[in-house]
Amino acid sequence: MAQLTDDCFAFSGPLLRLDDMEQLIHERIASVAETECVPLHGARGRIVAADVKAPVDLPPFDNSAVDGYAVRHADLLPDADTKLAIVGRMMAGGRAGPALDRGQAVRIFTGAAMPKGADTVFMQEDVTVEGSQVIVPKGLKPGSNRRLAGEDAHAGAVVVPAGTVLEAQHIALLAALGVAEIEVRRRLKVAIFSTGDEVVEPGTPRAGTAVYDANRYLLAELLERLGAVVTDLGILPDDPDRLAGALREAASGHDLIITSGGVSTGEADYVRTAVERVGNLVFWRVAIKPGRPVALGVIRGTSGRNAAFVGLPGNPVAVFVTFVRVVKPLLRRLAGARADKLVPLPVRAAFAYKKKKDRREYVRVALKRSADGEIEAIKHPQDGAGILTSLTETDGLLEFPEDITTIEPGARVGFLSYAALVG
Ligand code: AMP
Ligand code: MG
Repeated sequence: MAQLTDDCFAFSGPLLRLDDMEQLIHERIASVAETECVPLHGARGRIVAADVKAPVDLPPFDNSAVDGYAVRHADLLPDADTKLAIVGRMMAGGRAGPALDRGQAVRIFTGAAMPKGADTVFMQEDVTVEGSQVIVPKGLKPGSNRRLAGEDAHAGAVVVPAGTVLEAQHIALLAALGVAEIEVRRRLKVAIFSTGDEVVEPGTPRAGTAVYDANRYLLAELLERLGAVVTDLGILPDDPDRLAGALREAASGHDLIITSGGVSTGEADYVRTAVERVGNLVFWRVAIKPGRPVALGVIRGTSGRNAAFVGLPGNPVAVFVTFVRVVKPLLRRLAGARADKLVPLPVRAAFAYKKKKDRREYVRVALKRSADGEIEAIKHPQDGAGILTSLTETDGLLEFPEDITTIEPGARVGFLSYAALVG
């Protein structure tokens, strides 16, 4: 399992800024070391273990980008049409033809190798053919419509760096380079459970004061989307003995254990008590809103390896926000992925908002194109941490940076889509 020291989450300060949190994760948390070789198909979401270099040039040879006529640019008249003799025909995948001599052209198709001597291709739409001759217009720049060997990727260049989370486009690039297998980090093993005497399984009868479990379903989906293998340990009662037992058991086979509920500072603080029995616990008061303190710790496994522990709040929206802004960076680090590059996109706020300085705040918004064509962000009317429909009826989160305190209607603000946040 992951190699974690007992005090890796220790942090002494009242509030942890998001940037400092990411730095701390980077410095203290080691990634899982084991790797495996997997075929390209099915590798989406896996994390590249070592820099991948292009084994060949891409494209592998100079070729035509269009259907047309390959010529020697030096033969063309600068101020008039040029008449050239058509001396051959080059198809994609066909044999390389003879070199072009002065005054000659070759009929060529997209993807066919450039004949020796030719450096420029006229599109077939732009020329006139007269029998075995082609008349090409003046003015085309040398090298037009020709793709050079290695212009996409040079042999030996790093094309997919270590830590890349493979997407369809990376897989396509590797395939184009002839790579059939890739070395990736092994998947993280993550155990999840919900806590709370009131929490019951959907699909089972619900007594008067019980609520159905939303968090395990939320966490399982978020984790699987990030490539983790999830073990669902169900719902545990508010009982420190049962919780401690479950945590100790899970620590041996998992890199990370995530719970929700039972970490509030009220008297029913069962998870804290349980974790302190079988490991080490610290609270991160991350300077974000929403986001109550998140409990982090290390649970001692029987094999001497420790599992990381994250105790999330009970309210589902708080679970979502703390997951995407706190757990995800930790998870990516553990998994060996590079830090996520989240770029908030500029939109126009359709509401006024006040916030505390030195805290990053996230507001659930729906996007709408306004009459003047600009994209506007409309704040959801309900912003309670338990309001799940405030997540399903919106498109993403506005991110208000630490240094600002007021947002006026019409202000340009940064939007992060749910797709970007959970991917
Ligand atoms: P807690 O942090 O345990 O005090 O829980 C805060 C709120 O979240 C309470 O209203 C709980 O009933 C609710 N809650 C806790 N766990 C879940 C869960 N798994 N699914 C839905 N709601 C939950
Ligand atoms: Mg609870």
